[in-house]
Amino acid sequence: MSFINEEAIHSTLDDAANTEPARQREALAKARSGERLTLSDVAALLSIRDADLREEVHAAAREVKRAIYGNRLVFFAPLYLTNHCVNNCLYCSFRRDNRALVRATLTQDEIRHEVEILLDQGHKRLLLVAGEHPTQSALDYIGESIETVYSVRRGNNNIRRVNINAAPMSTEDFRTLKSFGIGTYQCFQETYHRETYAHVHPSGPKHDYDWRVEVMDRAMEAGIDDVGIGVLFGLADYRFEILAMLEHVRHLEERFDGVGPHTISIPRLEPAMNAPLDSTNSPWTLADEDFKTAVAVLRLAIPYTGMILSTRERPELRRELFDYGISQISAGSRTDPGGYHRDTHEYAEQFQLGDHRPVREVVRDVLSLGYIPSFCTACYRSGRTGDRFMSLAKSANIGAICTPNALATFEEYLKDFGDEDMRRIAERIVEEEIARMPEPIGRKTREMIERTRRGETDVYI
Ligand code: SAM
Ligand code: SF4
Repeated sequence: MSFINEEAIHSTLDDAANTEPARQREALAKARSGERLTLSDVAALLSIRDADLREEVHAAAREVKRAIYGNRLVFFAPLYLTNHCVNNCLYCSFRRDNRALVRATLTQDEIRHEVEILLDQGHKRLLLVAGEHPTQSALDYIGESIETVYSVRRGNNNIRRVNINAAPMSTEDFRTLKSFGIGTYQCFQETYHRETYAHVHPSGPKHDYDWRVEVMDRAMEAGIDDVGIGVLFGLADYRFEILAMLEHVRHLEERFDGVGPHTISIPRLEPAMNAPLDSTNSPWTLADEDFKTAVAVLRLAIPYTGMILSTRERPELRRELFDYGISQISAGSRTDPGGYHRDTHEYAEQFQLGDHRPVREVVRDVLSLGYIPSFCTACYRSGRTGDRFMSLAKSANIGAICTPNALATFEEYLKDFGDEDMRRIAERIVEEEIARMPEPIGRKTREMIERTRRGETDVYI
């Protein structure tokens, strides 16, 4: 199967190299009107160098984001299960040849301990992350770990959605993974550029480009209909990666009745211990300004796909990117197995983080920027996945469900973890949000908040 046609992508990018401003504006107008963009439109947007015109791209992305996702930002935390890995990715500290890394795989007791800490920070949604290893991250172990995560209780709090980022599997194994009750299955192609891919993944099962690029076909065949794709920006030309990722989206939509990926992730290459390749020596390091435009263009090209931003990025840049189309963020993250309960981290982490703030501080910051921190996990539990989620998103009805859920789950967070100061800022933002809602949604939302204040937990529609 070859749905990534490199030649076609290169020729689209070559054609766009000297795009006239009139053509760039035409593509921008099309994006604003909500029309689906062609690869050539996207290449035209990515060819914009003029700062004012770029600002217009950012503004258009902001409008689209607000119209579809409203003001909410969904919070999650990664939970690293193991840093054992048989692959040798040039950019990752978990690579097999990194002998200095302290290797660890969490026991079920340790997982329980980590989850307790994350629950005490207010998290309700976790992303389990694992290196690729036949025994240390075997499917049985993943299943047992998911069961453990869901079983932990702290007062009224529990983890209500477990997503997973792990190596590609066979269709049969994906059926088993689905039976464990996962939300989204994530796996990033890293780079869609075949030659670069082979170079940066010199050995191990990950060396096989096709096995990886077809991973979501197998996951969706197995009935996992919320999948998350991504590229690791900084390995190859970001414009190539964006067009290729859009080809991947189109392929999945064509094959699975209009259902594309539920989310895309946009990690950028960060320095990692003993990793030969990083942003200081890669020829394709993505500068902040280009990264901002990349995020905005992605938002315009696939308006209905959630976009995830991790703590790899610095707080100042995160603040700006929220506005250009981010819908989910991690906060308070650790990238070493056991990192939430251990005091030393430096020899077991996957890569360096840019945002070290605790969850509470990120919540406060997000709130002061006018967003509603959301701890919602409703869709997957209400069966709104795959085509049901897509039709909800495409009818722009996401706001009628997600905003009330965001407000109710945030109220629960405030009740359990907020302080006076946070409640004061929240009150104003929440009132403004409800005032913007049409009836009966506004009334319904007030009821949900009231029920939460009276002590009900996990209130959602
Ligand atoms: N081992 C599995 C895999 O590679 O697909 C899943 C987990 S891996 C720990 C998760 C992701 O971390 C990778 O897909 C890659 O994009 C990202 N990553 C690895 N090294 C990185 C680095 N130095 N900077 C930023 N992200 C990195
Ligand atoms: Fe292993 Fe994943 Fe790191 Fe590659 S990115 S070395 S596969 S953990």
